Amino acid sequence: MFIVMIASECAPVAKVGGLADVVFGLSRELEIRGNDVEIILPKYDCMRYDHIYGLQQVFNDLWVPYYDRWVHCSVFFGFVHGRKCFFIDPHFEKDFFNRGIFYGSDDDPDRFAFFSRAALEFMLKSDKQPDIIHCHDWQTGLVPVLLYEIYKHLGMTRPRVCYTLHNLKHQGITGEYILHETGLNRADYYFDYNRLQDNFNPFAINLMKGGIVYSNFVTTVSPRYADEIKYSSQNNGLGHTLYIHENKFGGVLNGVDYDVWNPETDVHIPYNYGAGNIHVKYGNKEALRHRLLLRQDYKPLVAYIGRLDSQKGVELIRHAIFYSLGHGCQFVLLGSSPDHEINSHFLHLKHHLNDNPDCHLEIGYSEELAHLIYAGADMIVVPSLFEPCGLTQLIAMKYGTVPVVRETGGLADTVFDADFADKPYHARNGYVFQTFDRPGLESALHRAIGMWYSYPEHFRELMTNGMHYDYSWNHPGGHYLNIYDHIREK
Ligand code: ADP
Repeated sequence: MFIVMIASECAPVAKVGGLADVVFGLSRELEIRGNDVEIILPKYDCMRYDHIYGLQQVFNDLWVPYYDRWVHCSVFFGFVHGRKCFFIDPHFEKDFFNRGIFYGSDDDPDRFAFFSRAALEFMLKSDKQPDIIHCHDWQTGLVPVLLYEIYKHLGMTRPRVCYTLHNLKHQGITGEYILHETGLNRADYYFDYNRLQDNFNPFAINLMKGGIVYSNFVTTVSPRYADEIKYSSQNNGLGHTLYIHENKFGGVLNGVDYDVWNPETDVHIPYNYGAGNIHVKYGNKEALRHRLLLRQDYKPLVAYIGRLDSQKGVELIRHAIFYSLGHGCQFVLLGSSPDHEINSHFLHLKHHLNDNPDCHLEIGYSEELAHLIYAGADMIVVPSLFEPCGLTQLIAMKYGTVPVVRETGGLADTVFDADFADKPYHARNGYVFQTFDRPGLESALHRAIGMWYSYPEHFRELMTNGMHYDYSWNHPGGHYLNIYDHIREK
């Protein structure tokens, strides 16, 4: 099968969060299973160019409609750790992708609507007729709309579209201008509750809604999140749309790329280990302490890795730091936020805890340090308010690091409580709490710390139980192929 992924992120070259890991990991799995996969991305100036092999311009004369003019674009091709990637580079005064950031400009809807149109124009002009176009999140929500309303009539009749929702917090709610920008000129037609009109604001266009309405199949990144966004307020207004389209909607749990995240082969950690020799893991704990100037002591090391965002439970992350330090643990945090206020709050906290030999807060982004933390920590906290899938708990488990998580979305689908899960002991792999508040978090963290100190052999079982789960792309890869087959038959 020929599959084209169109996305705003792909690990490790353009990564903000889990979306990037999914685009790379799923593409790799689909290729391993014998499919031809290409990925189309914007050519950001801030990409990790050192991870692109053989980058070269392959298409010089791509002209993309933009309002009533045409914008000249070049298309580059390169391999990203074996994946075939095309990068679209528009040349015009707005410099859409030369701003030193992936997201966060006021004109983000403008930038990614243009990218969606450019990706289709590129496919048309280069005669690509994939069986499947797989696009992701609001940034590429217009792809199925443009395909169905414009490009189908220009001859692109073959592709079917699978659209994956990674997070309903960001939907690309924007103004009517986006229609004129992308050549969807009949505003009355698109401003319809059954098409692109936002469900709350009748004067706004919702790009994610467009993606849902026009795609042949819609997935989200875990079965629990699929339920939550259909039936609870977590959908930020798209619940009814998902309900209307429920026959083409389902949850597929994300996988983790075990080529990248594997303690047995990881090149970023000093001591490789597996479930059979898990004691070797403690060499990494020592190395982590050494690197972050923490004292070597008989204490569990609790970690947090991730964006510092209200979704992730910033207040509970902060509380986890103090609770852990107050209950005989060390704490390491690696994270950052695009929100200036949250960032400076944690920088202030870092300053406050600077001399504490049991705590290190690293405010920033470091792929390589993340590997060492996953390998060196005993526990990882993920106290999210909501979590579509969550990759950190899955990666942590692969490294024998016990997750302490709130029961929501993908966390609920993948972490099973050591004391209360409705599963045999060998299938339990972490600690889970329900209420999004301090007592909730404490109830789980307290049990985890107690187990580490009082029943180390049981704690070790939990560690290896987690390592034995297969959260690779193996299962999800099969599910996605079934979905592709299903929509191709229609
Ligand atoms: P989200 O997509 O909501 O950000 P996920 O848990 O799905 O959260 O994915 C987060 C991914 O980003 C993981 O691979 C995690 O290791 C990585 N990550 C997040 N923050 C950082 C950071 N500051 N440094 C390194 N890696 C990070």
